[in-house]
Amino acid sequence: MAQKKGRVFSGARPTGKQHLGNYLGAIKNYVALQDEYDCVYSIVDLHALTTLETTRDLKQNCLEMALDWLAAGIDPQKSIVFVQSHVPQVTELHTILSMVTPLGKLTDLPTFKEKIRDHPNNVNYGLVGYPVLMSADITLYKADLVPVGIDQAPHIEFTRETVRSFNYRFNTNVLIEPQMKVTQFPKIMGIDGVNKMSKSLNNEIEISATAEETQKRVLSMVTDPNRQRRTDPGNPDICNVFALHKIFSAAEQVENINTECRRAGIGCVDCKKMLAQNINANLAGLRERRTELAAHPQDVLDVLADGDKRARVIAEATMQEVRRAVDFLE
Ligand code: SF4
Repeated sequence: MAQKKGRVFSGARPTGKQHLGNYLGAIKNYVALQDEYDCVYSIVDLHALTTLETTRDLKQNCLEMALDWLAAGIDPQKSIVFVQSHVPQVTELHTILSMVTPLGKLTDLPTFKEKIRDHPNNVNYGLVGYPVLMSADITLYKADLVPVGIDQAPHIEFTRETVRSFNYRFNTNVLIEPQMKVTQFPKIMGIDGVNKMSKSLNNEIEISATAEETQKRVLSMVTDPNRQRRTDPGNPDICNVFALHKIFSAAEQVENINTECRRAGIGCVDCKKMLAQNINANLAGLRERRTELAAHPQDVLDVLADGDKRARVIAEATMQEVRRAVDFLE
């Protein structure tokens, strides 16, 4: 097997069944990185606690997300797939890193201000410290690279600064400054056409939906708002249905829609039906694999348990070095 180029870490909150935005923005990229890098993919359930009002669905959401990841092609033979809270060393490193993190730096972060705005009744201590926990996630596994969209660059810079603070304070080089692997992916809008696809806004299309459910969701998508009647020419450039056609449909069909829409040669219903058909064809294999996996939930739990074990080995080795650097009594 070819020598891998380094270690990639990425984590995602357990949001349950994944939607097209998750799939196109993260999961496909996770799958693509596996051959070149040692990948460590974490279902970050501790992070989820910072904004959850109830943990009623937490377990199920972890399982649903794991099912989607595995069905999409994240391969546990190549990558470590595990649940964040199953590796308790992360909370230990989080505590230690919090001692080298100025509070003002955390409360100044734009993401913290956003979270306060979104969750005004639940501004908890964990919410302030979540970038420190994220730094612990990345550094615990000595990740060289973290795949991010350009808007997440400040998070990685924060981690790099945290690493420098730790290494300086304890006169060591135990922790590694991760590099960003900036990935270009289209911003996937929800069926409302104005907001990013998101479960909390109920504007998502789940990748595991049935063909019928997918068609129903696609048919409810908002199109060019200026096209009121079938006879009105449309503008594909401002239509979210067309944006998804560009991802899921063949070039020839995309070109045809582009032309016909502008001269009212195609109706939105037909255009949407074509899109639904193409999404369904594209995801048919994934859905089939997911159904098979879902029929054997214990196998999925076993995959995660194996991932936990492999992640703990790396985590404990890092923590032994960290404890020594801090000079804890051994
Ligand atoms: Fe959008 Fe298609 Fe309707 Fe044109 S025909 S406005 S691309 S849904």
